[in-house]
Amino acid sequence: MTNKNSKFKKNKSPFSKGLTPLQLIELDACTQCGECLKYCPVQEVTGNLAVSPPEKIRMFREFIKATEGLKAKLFNPKDIDRKLLEEFTKAVYECTTCGACSQNCTVGIFTQRLWPMLRKEMVRRGLGPVGTQAEMPGVIKKTGNPYNKPPEDRFKTWFPDDVKVYEKADIAYYAGCTGAYEAQPMVRGDIQVLNAIGEQFTMLPPEEEVCCGFPLFITGQHDMLEDLTRRLVGAYKAKGVKVLLCSCPCCVNIMARDWPVFYGKELPFKIRHITQFVADAIKHGRLHFKRGLKERIIYHDPCYLSRGVGVIDEPRAVLRSIPGIGLLEFERHGLNSRCCGAGGAARKVFHENAVAIGRLTIDEAVDKGADRLVLSCPACYVKVNEAMQGHKKQIKIVDIMELVAEIIKDKNTEFNSQESK
Ligand code: SF4
Ligand code: SF4
Repeated sequence: MTNKNSKFKKNKSPFSKGLTPLQLIELDACTQCGECLKYCPVQEVTGNLAVSPPEKIRMFREFIKATEGLKAKLFNPKDIDRKLLEEFTKAVYECTTCGACSQNCTVGIFTQRLWPMLRKEMVRRGLGPVGTQAEMPGVIKKTGNPYNKPPEDRFKTWFPDDVKVYEKADIAYYAGCTGAYEAQPMVRGDIQVLNAIGEQFTMLPPEEEVCCGFPLFITGQHDMLEDLTRRLVGAYKAKGVKVLLCSCPCCVNIMARDWPVFYGKELPFKIRHITQFVADAIKHGRLHFKRGLKERIIYHDPCYLSRGVGVIDEPRAVLRSIPGIGLLEFERHGLNSRCCGAGGAARKVFHENAVAIGRLTIDEAVDKGADRLVLSCPACYVKVNEAMQGHKKQIKIVDIMELVAEIIKDKNTEFNSQESK
């Protein structure tokens, strides 16, 4: 599973090289208490302790000790067995980077940030990434997206014909690769809702709307990140953009947290998730529902939206504003939500885990009596739909903006003639 194509560099250079002082302290701080194991989705479906936070931390500490500890300094740094390194690499990539362990860590280790940095170190040593993830930099360089799809087709199959995109505007919309190529109902819904609000917005031409860099960041392949960030930030800046909207939590995450670092300074615009913008529009009377929906729905918090950037209330505010809707909650929700299984670029290489984890979400949604499962992330959307195939329990899946667009889709009909149910 480890990257056979990459060149394993047998080196004795420090394992601690890419970590911040705080991350080194975090490694030391793990007490091996095991509390986080109760919340780990990979533990839940595999029971594989190698993937558990304390074991990954213990192993990495051992690597540091062997190469940088007192004995290594007095005598010679030890060679670390390649098989051990490969096992560690697999474990660190099998994790979905969901951050549930971080949320529940008794000493507050920020694992959602630590794991990608450990992956980066394994890439530096020629051991990571795993499977097809290694093809991503070349594919993104060639096509601008990690799916090897034609850049000119990025918006072709889903962008509504009747919506105008302005050359310049204060608001810009970034569709993102997964939405544009794999979860089209979601991005179509975003555009329909923006249009219904009456918001003038701009977009980059399809060939210029390249990958935000998250798949490269999360797999530890950082070489192109500065270039991608500069291209995108420069292009939106040239359009005079003040707010950049997107619906993919992973895009929002890297844009808000990491783009300023790769760009070298503060971004010239704000980053907002689509639910934040739409919740505001509803609050200020720019979007309202005259038609309702008599359904019980259950909302799944995407890890990188809730734990990642703290967007928890806004999607619920949008859903609660739909007349007639009954909003149910998962046992674990908000900051404590359970991963859908698709995170951390694991959804293709650890497909079976991802399907098994996705089915836990489906089962709970069905058991709670929900009519529909509402998602707000393209990776969740794709993976939970896949997990549904051939599964004994079935539920309709809908993206949050797809749902809003469905209710407001015929503006005239909806606002003038249809009453709330
Ligand atoms: S980030 Fe998620 S999948 Fe990875 S170890 Fe922590 S809880 Fe498990
Ligand atoms: S909860 Fe924190 S301290 Fe305890 S084992 Fe997990 S990572 Fe280590």
